[in-house]
Amino acid sequence: MKINEHYLELEDSYLFSTVARKQREYQQAHPEKKVIRLSIGDVTLPLAPVVIKAMEDAVKEMGSKATFRGYGPEQGYDFLREAVQAYYQGHGVSLDVDEIFISDGAKSDLGNLLDIFSLDNTVMIPNPVYPVYQDTNIMLGRQVIYAEAGEENGFLPLPDPAVKADIVYLCSPNNPTGAVYSREQLAAWVDYAKKNDAVILYDAAYECFIRDDETPHSIFEIEGAKECAIEVCSFSKTAGFTGTRCGYTVVPMALVSGGTPLNHLWLRRQTTKFNGVPYIVQRGAAAVFTEEGQMQVREAVDYYRENAKIMVDGMKKMGIWFTGGVNSPYIWMKCPGGRTSWEFFDYLLENAGVVGTPGSGFGRNGEGYFRLTAFGDQAETREAMERMIALLS
Ligand SMILES: *Cc1c(COP(=O)(O)O)cnc(C)c1O
Repeated sequence: MKINEHYLELEDSYLFSTVARKQREYQQAHPEKKVIRLSIGDVTLPLAPVVIKAMEDAVKEMGSKATFRGYGPEQGYDFLREAVQAYYQGHGVSLDVDEIFISDGAKSDLGNLLDIFSLDNTVMIPNPVYPVYQDTNIMLGRQVIYAEAGEENGFLPLPDPAVKADIVYLCSPNNPTGAVYSREQLAAWVDYAKKNDAVILYDAAYECFIRDDETPHSIFEIEGAKECAIEVCSFSKTAGFTGTRCGYTVVPMALVSGGTPLNHLWLRRQTTKFNGVPYIVQRGAAAVFTEEGQMQVREAVDYYRENAKIMVDGMKKMGIWFTGGVNSPYIWMKCPGGRTSWEFFDYLLENAGVVGTPGSGFGRNGEGYFRLTAFGDQAETREAMERMIALLS
């Protein structure tokens, strides 16, 4: 046998393990100091009561012969697909239930979607960005080019008509930069995709952090996007499902290549290689879309949004350049004093006892930048900002 040698081309990621090790070493050397982590890339608030109740009821159903469920539909139960459909309708997007696929989260779908595309496609990935897009393509040996993000474009790269790509990844609100595309900017990408016969893989994992009326929650709010985009979303950040696992992917019927609807390929892929999300979890996810559920998950998102605002106010006070923090749980700040990302990491840990994530871990354009997250405790977030202001003002 031979292994897939493309795996050997992957760069080892030491980002989060190094962050954890440095924090541990500092804490051991200074046991009296309270370290505050603004590096948490995971939700910390528990599941909403309606979600717990729905899952408890579903567990009981599984314990009775009359209501027990075995294999479900691979693409998800209709009760959940219809709830997702109604949620999109709330943003003015009409979808057919068959265009919605329930998944065990965005990460697996983002990687698995690549099954339905030819290996000779060129892939365009923003830099910096969530590392999954790049690594899943390297594993398959696909050629990757970058959409360069930086201070000059507010970390929101726009299409370059001279550069040709077949598959384009977009993530908005973005991880790690917190930057969010406007309607006009998304329209420019849709226009590019249609002109180049490309597909946009749109990661909307943080859409629920958007609270103004102008910013689109979905790429399908842009005219023509159904002919050129697939959207991947998740209950992870919107409803605290990071450990519970549920998401959804929308593949519109209007997205067609050489007469073949991509929806049919994805359905075939999923029914062959995936056996659905647990009934119990899907019941919990459906509860998120009830009126009560929406109120309860909104409360958790509001808490994180308030943390983000505390950090935004701190950045403004210190006069530090940053993106994000408004419709997003991430703050992406420029490292003061011209430091590299890791130099600033060490400086902040040693002098303020605050841990963040070095931007260089998200791509070469992240060098010199630093990510703070809003998923921590509110009193701690406040204290961390006070310490940073004292150190950096
Ligand atoms: C957290 C996150 C996701 C969600 O992944 P799940 O597998 O659904 O937990 C997707 N995309 C980005 C950019 C993320 O940061």
